[in-house]
Amino acid sequence: MAVNASGNMFFFGPPARQGQSRAPAKVRAVRVIYTSTEVFPALKTGGLADVNSALPAALIDAGVDVRLLLPAFPALVNAAVNLTPVIHLKSPFCRPDVSILRGQLGRVPAYLIDVPQLYSRTGSPYVDEKGHDWPDNHLRFALLGWVAARFADGTVDGWRPDIVHGHDWHAGLAPAYLAARGGERPASVHTIHNIGFQGEFAAETFRELALPANYFSMYGIEFYGKVNFMKAALHYADSITTVSSTYAREIQSPEFGFGMDGLLRSRAGALTGILNGVDYQVWNPNRDSYLAAPYSRLEPANKSTCKDSLRMALGLASGSGPLFGVVSRLSPQKGLDLLLEVLPALVAFGGQVVLLGSGDPALEAGYRAAAARYPKDISVTFSYDEALAHRIFAGTDVTLVPSRFEPCGLTQMYALAYGSLPLVRRVGGLADTVCDANADNLSAGIATGFVFPDATSDSLNACLKRLFALWKQPSQWAAVRDNAMQQNFGWGPAAQRYLALYRALRPLA
Ligand code: ADP
Repeated sequence: MAVNASGNMFFFGPPARQGQSRAPAKVRAVRVIYTSTEVFPALKTGGLADVNSALPAALIDAGVDVRLLLPAFPALVNAAVNLTPVIHLKSPFCRPDVSILRGQLGRVPAYLIDVPQLYSRTGSPYVDEKGHDWPDNHLRFALLGWVAARFADGTVDGWRPDIVHGHDWHAGLAPAYLAARGGERPASVHTIHNIGFQGEFAAETFRELALPANYFSMYGIEFYGKVNFMKAALHYADSITTVSSTYAREIQSPEFGFGMDGLLRSRAGALTGILNGVDYQVWNPNRDSYLAAPYSRLEPANKSTCKDSLRMALGLASGSGPLFGVVSRLSPQKGLDLLLEVLPALVAFGGQVVLLGSGDPALEAGYRAAAARYPKDISVTFSYDEALAHRIFAGTDVTLVPSRFEPCGLTQMYALAYGSLPLVRRVGGLADTVCDANADNLSAGIATGFVFPDATSDSLNACLKRLFALWKQPSQWAAVRDNAMQQNFGWGPAAQRYLALYRALRPLA
């Protein structure tokens, strides 16, 4: 396979026989504008950033001409190299005009939407320093979708995508703007990373969005009298994906659909679950510069050095019990209130806990009180700390992810790679990636962690009892850890599935 200067890709078959001339079969690469908001390592508030750095790179490896489209948030401008303006667009949302910059983020070409009065702000991309949504978020993210759709006419950098692939509610209006263009247009794909976040705004904002008046309807972007960006995507996108098979099923039910289950059932034929992956360039205990010592599945001895170092750094007592880790947003989604309830029992069994996270003030208060009660066994750090996150996966025996719902979850897959056995609730991507250490799976040699069924402290407690029983059998524990570290959730298969989806939507000559 070769790529020519214009990005076209050629696939060569076997060499032509002597005397025979044969033109190589020429297949143009699928062109995708990948529309989102955050990319690791430049800008990360959660797992979406990890996905947005690894998936586009895997798509490039699969032969896709993928380019990122993001707001020019200061952190992205600082991280991008070779930024050059390519076009000024007149937008319906802001004055002066919108400048589109082209550059490179890591291995991936990127376009940044440069409108300082909308994007050049301190704080997170979504909220101000007090944690309040920016009051003009509807315009900030409508512009993202509008620019994505604007690529359809091929005048932005002379490049016309086959697919506009948007992520989460922030890019939710892209399929609506594309539909409103009518005529021949790129196909739209929308990926749901979390249906709990929908981008809901007052009805009055609709008139600022420059969409046809009839789009504010039940069969459009209106949802219970409000503007809803996620609803727009689910209604107008040609194809919808989400990040695990189980979550694709779950969100079609009232329990998990956050009100969108009916619409998703009606679009079931266009909805696919494609499991996220792990970037093993970033998450590999044998090559992780954050760790006290490197280790691997075949040479796991240094994992105990990482454990000692973590305990010492956080002021925990040494002991013979398992060390549990939590690296998480503190939100009701993550089920950490259940963990809070079982902490006394966990410590009584001989366990210790290291928690890194921030968010819900009531949860922070609960964990602060627990750490004060068990200072030698429970450590809490309320911040965002990439290095400590890596050290926790390496230094712990178990990673806790007791989520109420979990679209995919990345931390349990990182935990598997680091031999920290995931203890998870059987929901979403957690159910698809962790194999419970029950008697059958243990004897079949396929267990990789612990899975509990119900979002109750009793269910979690029962699982903890099984875990402590296994801890007392070191050779069994080591066998499960060995299985866990053998799991391969690389991005390759996901990239192939997205490519197949793109090709099905836009067969190329
Ligand atoms: P979500 O996207 O719902 O927050 P995921 O499991 O998909 O959950 O991804 C979470 C990502 O954020 C992982 O890369 C995890 O390591 C990281 N993370 C979460 N909380 C913190 C924190 N306090 N410090 C550092 N990294 C964190």
